[in-house]
Amino acid sequence: MKFYIHTYGCQMNVRDSEAVESLMIAAGHEKAASEDDAEVVIINSCTVRQKAEEKAVGKSGNMIAAGKITGMMGCAVKRMGEDIFKRLPKLHFAVGPRAFGLIPRIVSEGRYPVLELGEDVVPVGMDAHVDTGWQSFVTVLLGCDNRCSYCIVPDVRGHEYSRPAKEVVAEVAALAKRGVKEVCLLGQSVLRYGIRNTAWDDDEGEAFPRLLRALNEIDGLERIRFTSAHPKGCTDELIRVYRECPKVCRHLHLPVQSGSDRVLAEMGRRYTRAEYLAAVAKLREFDPEFAVTTDVIVGYPGETAEDFEATRSLMEEAGFDNAFVFKYSPRPGTRSAALEDDVPKEEKERRDQVLLADQELRGQKRNDRLVGTVREVLFEGPSKRKADRFSGRDGGNRIVVWDKPADCSVSPAPGDKVRLEILEAHPQILIGRPV
Ligand code: SAH
Ligand code: SF4
Repeated sequence: MKFYIHTYGCQMNVRDSEAVESLMIAAGHEKAASEDDAEVVIINSCTVRQKAEEKAVGKSGNMIAAGKITGMMGCAVKRMGEDIFKRLPKLHFAVGPRAFGLIPRIVSEGRYPVLELGEDVVPVGMDAHVDTGWQSFVTVLLGCDNRCSYCIVPDVRGHEYSRPAKEVVAEVAALAKRGVKEVCLLGQSVLRYGIRNTAWDDDEGEAFPRLLRALNEIDGLERIRFTSAHPKGCTDELIRVYRECPKVCRHLHLPVQSGSDRVLAEMGRRYTRAEYLAAVAKLREFDPEFAVTTDVIVGYPGETAEDFEATRSLMEEAGFDNAFVFKYSPRPGTRSAALEDDVPKEEKERRDQVLLADQELRGQKRNDRLVGTVREVLFEGPSKRKADRFSGRDGGNRIVVWDKPADCSVSPAPGDKVRLEILEAHPQILIGRPV
C-alpha cells in the first residue's frame, strides 16, 4: 500500500519514522510523495508538552476525515493508551514507541483497529535505514531512567537500555559504506550509555567516549554528533576524545532547564548551577569556539522572579550559542503534575520572550567572534531563506550560507566539505565565501 509518515517531536521520532519507512518498503509497501497521494498515513506523535500531543491527535483526526487508513505511533500513543480510541474512535491502529516494528505487518493484514502499546524491549528494526542521504541518526540509548520531575519521557519510552557497542559500530560502518558522512547518535541522556547495562564485552574505559573513539576510525565517515548530554558526563576522558578524534564535532547540546539551584533540585536534575557552569567552562577552556546549546523551561511550578533571573544570568555566564525555550506544561503522572501550575500563562510567555531576546544578542556576540575565521562546512543544499545562496553547517552546528557560484558545474554535492571564510555574522546564521 502507498504510505506517508508525518513526524512530530524530537530527533528520536525522526529516527523511528525512518526505521518504519525502511521496514514498510522492505515489506513491499510504497512510499507516497505526499499525504494526499497515500492510502495509509502514519502519524508519529510527541507528548512532551500538551500542545505537541494535541497537534498529533488533530492531524490524525484530519487524516481519518480525509478517508485515509490512519495509524499513530510514538509517545502520545503510550501516554493515552486505550483512551486514544475515545479521542479518535475511527483510528485504525496505534503503536507505542518501542513497538514500531509491528507496523508493516499491521498494515499488510489490514484488520483494524489495533492497539499495541509494546513492552520495554529493543524495537524490531532498530537498525533499519532508508538508502538515501548523507546524514543519519543512530539511536544508541533507548528510554530514560532519570525521572526529572516534569518529564513524561521515562513513562512513555521506558527504561534505559544501551545497545551493544558492536552493533552500533557495525551499523555506522554500513551507513558510511553507503555514503553517509555524518551520524548523530541519539539518547535522552546519551552520556549515560553503558551505565545501566554494559555495552562492551569488557568494562575497560568509559563506554560512551570509547564508542566515539571506535566510530572515529570508520573510513568515509566525516562527522560524529550526539545528543542530548548531561553535565555529569562531561568527563576528562570526553575532553580527551574531543582533542584526539577530529571527526567528533565540537558541539554539545547540554539542556540546563533552569539556573536556580532551588528549581534544579526540585526538578531532580542532579547538578547545581555551579556544576553545570563548570562543565561548560571545561569545554570552552579546551576550545573557546566550542558550541554549547541548551534547553530551558520557563514557568516551572513556583518559579519566582528571582529563580527566573538566575536562569537569565546562568545563560549569560554560559554564553550559549543557541537555546530552545519551553513554557512549562504539566504532564499527567509526572511528579510536578501534583504541584500547582501557578505561573500565569502571560508571565510564562513574557519570560519566554525575555530569554529569546537575550539569546539573540548573545548569539550575535558569539558569532561576531567568528568573522574573519575559516570554517569547514558540510554542504546541505540551497538556502531555505534565499534561493540564490547555498547552505551548510560547521562542526559547531552553526548554519553558514554563501552565494551560489555563477557556474553551476562547480556546485558541491550534499555532504561535500567546503572551506569558507566568514564575512558577516547574525544571531542564527553566518555568511561566508569559499576559500
Ligand atoms: N532527554 C533530554 C530532554 C528530552 S525532552 C534531556 O534531558 O536532556 C526535550 C526538552 O523538552 C527538555 O530538555 C525540556 O526542556 C523540555 N520539556 C520536557 N518536559 C517538559 C514539560 N513538561 N514542559 C515543558 N518543557 C518540557
Ligand atoms: Fe526527561 Fe530528564 Fe529523561 Fe531528559 S533526562 S528525557 S528531561 S526525564
